[in-house]
Parts: sequence; structure tokens; C-alpha cells
Amino acid sequence: MTLSTVSRRFDIHSVVNHHEPQRLKVYTQRDLHRIQPLQRLPEATRFAMQVVASVLPFRVNEYVINELIDWNHVPNDPIYQLTFPQHGMLPAKHFERMAAAHRAGLDKRQIQSIANEIRTELNPHPADQLQLNVPFDADGARLNGIQHKYRETVLFFPSQGQTCHSYCTFCFRWPQFVGDKDLRMATTEADRLQRYLREHKEVTDLLITGGDPMVMKTKHLKAYLEPLLGPEFDHIKTIRIGTKALTFWPHRFVFDEDANSLVDLLHRMVLAGKHLAIMAHYNHWKELESDIAHAAINRLRATGAEIRSQGPLLAKINDSADDWKELWKRQVILGIIPYYTFVERDTGACSYFAVPLAKAWEIYRHAMQGVSGLGRTARGPSMSAGPGKVEIQGVAEVAGEKVFVLRFIQARNPDWVQRPFFARFDAQATWLDQLEPAFGESRFFYEAEYQTMLSC
Ligand SMILES: *Cc1c(COP(=O)(O)O)cnc(C)c1O
Repeated sequence: MTLSTVSRRFDIHSVVNHHEPQRLKVYTQRDLHRIQPLQRLPEATRFAMQVVASVLPFRVNEYVINELIDWNHVPNDPIYQLTFPQHGMLPAKHFERMAAAHRAGLDKRQIQSIANEIRTELNPHPADQLQLNVPFDADGARLNGIQHKYRETVLFFPSQGQTCHSYCTFCFRWPQFVGDKDLRMATTEADRLQRYLREHKEVTDLLITGGDPMVMKTKHLKAYLEPLLGPEFDHIKTIRIGTKALTFWPHRFVFDEDANSLVDLLHRMVLAGKHLAIMAHYNHWKELESDIAHAAINRLRATGAEIRSQGPLLAKINDSADDWKELWKRQVILGIIPYYTFVERDTGACSYFAVPLAKAWEIYRHAMQGVSGLGRTARGPSMSAGPGKVEIQGVAEVAGEKVFVLRFIQARNPDWVQRPFFARFDAQATWLDQLEPAFGESRFFYEAEYQTMLSC
């Protein structure tokens, strides 16, 4: 589809009339052999898929298989790379270990136990998420299901929303989709969230996340959202809902049996005065092509909610300036506001998708140059690291030294935000912990204070 056909006048009746309502049909590791188009791929590829899917989560649905992936371009198709496990996604030694287990025909329990050992070596909780972000109540009990890292914004993980319509191969929350239940960060308690928010008047933003909260039934979502309209929550101005459903299951907003009540609920939140932001996870312009995706976007926007987009920059999926330029252009046409471009986190399959920071910045910069100001609203490339969100602002030469210019977009201490700081240029570095301070300094300006935070 060319860009001009994206902007054609949208007619929801034609979409509704020309689509059979579909039910979500998902496939997991057990069903790999039942996915038709895979049967054409080489045996070795399918074996590698089994091996990787024994360790990392795999789940894909029929809409993704039939309408988003172009099987003529496999293995290079970006949506295929986004959803299907590939050989290189496990470090070689782990891959070989799991492959041997499968060849030897070990039973399910033995495979599970090897998988668990491998998982602990894949940095399952990057950026000290569990250590530092989960708050305690007045009695010293951990408030599971809540994370509070930045003063203004609380993250909430509703227990019914801790899965997705399909899984991304690069997911940084992958541990919550595999085996071990105590790695999960979920709560069933809307009460607990409300109590926390009542006691924290400095919080203005609530970010409901997952998994994908849009896998929840409307009635569950309603139980979390509606109480926030009470006067004791007047300080909560903005409610964000993180989701990839606009890509993986746009039917959620159009055809699902509670699609209408969902749209109504969102509309009522807006009418009651909340800023409602759908934080849509997008990686590639191909996610924005189908009629049903357009229908979903239009229905959401008609509620008065804003749609903002965010997603990581990834090798094999979107590591080109043209892809980002096209993504942002299409988003602007569809009324979606680009918000963040992330650097892929140092967890799970990260080495497969890693792009050096220097290259990520080049891609981001060239993509920015190709769009108008309305398309230049995504900040990045940004690393969600322990101390905060660190943005690569650019590469420069200062006093004869080639450096990265960095800044915090968000930080544990708000005072760190928007102070430029400098790291020695390193063409290979892919994450903050590989960077050294420039100008011979021994540490970055925030490090002493961050160490103190870690130790208390
Ligand atoms: C990104 C992020 C937020 C939201 O930060 P904004 O700058 O307001 O978008 C909140 N909590 C965590 C843990 C985050 O990573």
C-alpha cells in the first residue's frame, strides 16, 4: 500500500461489512507443527524454533500469521522476526544445551528444568526493576503489581492483563510469560492500587501495563478505571494504557463481543476529564497497513483518547532510517503521536536484536530529517536503565575528544533530568553500562547518588 492510500477517507461501515468477525485463535510452542506456512520451512529452522521456544515465550495468533506476515519474504519479513523464535535468539552455548536435550528426547519436566536454568542467565530483571521499583505500604509489605520509579508516574500490572495477543520475540518482560510464577509482577487488587494512589498525591500519571491490559475483558478494565473518577483521585490527570493490541489484535476494538462497551468506557473516562493515552507499541509501518488496524485506530481516536506510539529499535526488524521515517509518516497521517524510540534492553534475546548506540542514533537522526515537525515528536534513542531513561542526544567532538552527548529524559532523582553529560565515544557499545565517562572523569555525575539508592 502506498502512503496516499493510507489517508483515504475511512469508512467503518465498509470494514464492518467486508470482514467476518474473527475469534482470536492463538498458537503456542505445542502448536508449532500446526502452523501451516511453517511447514514449508526447512526442518532445521523448525527444530531451532522448538529449541528457542522452550526457553523464551512464544505465542502468535492467526491474524498475525495470515495478514501481517508476508511469507514470501520469510525469514527477513519484520513481523516474522517480531513473533517467531529464531536460532540466534539464544546465545550459542544455551542453544546447544537445549538442542541436545531435545535430540536426546528428554521429558517435559527435564526440559523445563534446563529452561529455568538458562533463563536465570538471561538477565531476567534488567534495570533493578524488582529491587528498586516495587514500593512498600505503611506496614512494610511489598505492593506487588505496582512499580513506582519516577515521581509523577505509577505503573500498574493488573493480573488479568499479564499476557498478550501474541508475544514479541524481543520482549523485555519475557520472564512473566514463562513457567516460574513467583517471577510474575501482578496483582488482583484494584483496592491496593487505589490505596496507594490516595496516599501519593504527587502522582499525576497512572500507566496500566502488562503484558497487555487490552487482553482484559472490558468488565475487568472497568473495575480498575471507573473508581479513578472519584474526587479522591483528582490528582490523577492522565491514565495511560500500554498495548500492542492495535498490531496483534485490532479486532479487540471493533469486533470483539465487548468492543463497544470498551469504547464506551474509554469515552466516559475522557468526558469525566481524564487525559486518556493509549500507549501503542509499534515497531514497523507494516503494522499499520490493514483495514482492521485503521478501523481500530479510528474508533479509539473517536473516544477522545490520544494514541501515542513507542517501541524499540531492533536489528532485523527496523534498523533503517527509511523504516522509521515511514512509520512516523504513517502514524502522523493516522493521528498517532510518536512518543519514544527505545534502545533494546539488555535482557532475553537482546544480542540478536542489539544495535550499537552510535548506529541507533544515526538511524534516528536520518529518520527525523525525513519527516516534518509533526513526525519529530519521538524522543530517543532512549535506554530505560536503572538510574532512568537516558537519551543519546548525539555524537560530538569536545576539546578534541569524540563523545556521546547524553541526557536523562526521566530519572530516579528529578534533578538529574535535562542535564547534558558526556561519555567517551564507543562505536560498539549497545548499553549504558558499557559507556565510560568522557574527559578522564571516573564516574558519571549521578553515579554516587545512584549507588546510595541501591544500597538502602
Ligand atoms: C518510561 C517510564 C515511565 C513513564 O515516563 P514518562 O517520561 O512520563 O513517559 C514510568 N515508569 C517507568 C518505570 C518507565 O520506564
